[in-house]
Amino acid sequence: EQYNIDQKIQEFIAKIEAKNPNEPEFLQAVKEVAVTVIPFIMTKKEYTGMKLLERMAEAERIIIFRVPWVDDKGEIQVNRGFRIQMNSAIGPYKGGIRFHPTVNLSVLKFLAFEQVFKNSLTTLPMGGGKGGSDFDPQGKSDMEVMRFCQAFMTELCKHVGPETDVPAGDIGVGAREIGYLFGQYKKIRNEFTGVLTGKGLAYGGSLIRPEATGYGVVYFAEQMLKTIGQTFKDKIVTVSGFGNVAWGVIKKVSELGGKVVTISGPDGYVYDKDGIDGEKIDYLLELRSSGNNRAEDYAKKYPSAQFFAGKRPWEVKCDVAIPSATQNELDLEDAKLLVENGCVCVTEAANMPSTLDAINYFLDNKVLFSPGKASNAGGVATSGLEMTQNSIRLNWTSEEVDARLKEIMIGIHKACRDYGKEEDGYVNYVKGANIAGFVKVAEAMLAQGVV
Ligand code: GLU
Repeated sequence: EQYNIDQKIQEFIAKIEAKNPNEPEFLQAVKEVAVTVIPFIMTKKEYTGMKLLERMAEAERIIIFRVPWVDDKGEIQVNRGFRIQMNSAIGPYKGGIRFHPTVNLSVLKFLAFEQVFKNSLTTLPMGGGKGGSDFDPQGKSDMEVMRFCQAFMTELCKHVGPETDVPAGDIGVGAREIGYLFGQYKKIRNEFTGVLTGKGLAYGGSLIRPEATGYGVVYFAEQMLKTIGQTFKDKIVTVSGFGNVAWGVIKKVSELGGKVVTISGPDGYVYDKDGIDGEKIDYLLELRSSGNNRAEDYAKKYPSAQFFAGKRPWEVKCDVAIPSATQNELDLEDAKLLVENGCVCVTEAANMPSTLDAINYFLDNKVLFSPGKASNAGGVATSGLEMTQNSIRLNWTSEEVDARLKEIMIGIHKACRDYGKEEDGYVNYVKGANIAGFVKVAEAMLAQGVV
């Protein structure tokens, strides 16, 4: 029987690969899901033959468009814009927009595919999507970023709407970009609607949304640690990145008594032996808004910190590792180092930061490991809460939003446990997240016919 299952998985992956050549990131995300979900599908009579996973691996719609804009020198620049409308079985498409030079179809399809499962896990009525551009905000002036965002939305606004598709931020798209995108949408459509989330507080944003992804990750990690009778108190934590997600993670870990000792940028990582807390956390915000994407600047300011050029923080001894930068930033070698150095818990905050080999190594070694689609779902969950507040035209307090966020993360953890618990008691969160996320979307698709 195992042979039969393995064969089904191999056939499925070969089919998806043939349909999507040269898309390594997308294939990686599909593989991770296929390996865990296909055996489950084979146990459910009503699912077999319905091509549910194959349908989920095919976007409902992909929009690719030209984004022409004029830079400060008066020169015309041409970028490519994308919106992947992956799955709307359980709600309007929902997912971020990424502006980064590495953005391409493969990257956005992997993100959109994962978003479907993630959004399902939140229990809120949100389908999955993702968008972005190869535009690089680094080194651009405010006005250039504004003109780019306006040009991007001039096309995107034809395809989104509060009941159709609700974008938000991701790498390279923060409060400033959301503001410009919203302004242009409103101008063209003459509608003041919650078509974007991550909005500023003055125009319909939600309290806690900036912190939500990071806070949610730490609430999730807290639950993971609880399963082995531990807490964040006095834990040494390594974090990568220093953007919005890392910032939220660091704030919450330090609030819970843990000590974060690293951050990183494209230039390398910083080890701060005294821990990153107090005003140092605020400095991360300053670093980020300076538009200078270098971790080294942190080490220049704080003498307790040391900078390691071109390296990743996974060589630092820690109890908990929280990759918070980007995809494939933690490979098999890093995983081995982490386990060797006694790390007991790896909670992904970025989307797909670990390679498949790294994930398998963690699972084989029974390390607590959670995939980003489960542990970082607090960001989009709070986007869902922003949509709710916009719909009812009310703003909840920080305490209210935070309490709902925490409750959602505890719920996702439980769903992962329910579907991912193995015979020896070890929880395979990858399997748990994929199956739990899959079931709701599958049920909705089955009910809606061949769609
Ligand atoms: N970009 C975030 C994510 O990866 C948030 C998406 C949203 O809020 O719609 O989930």
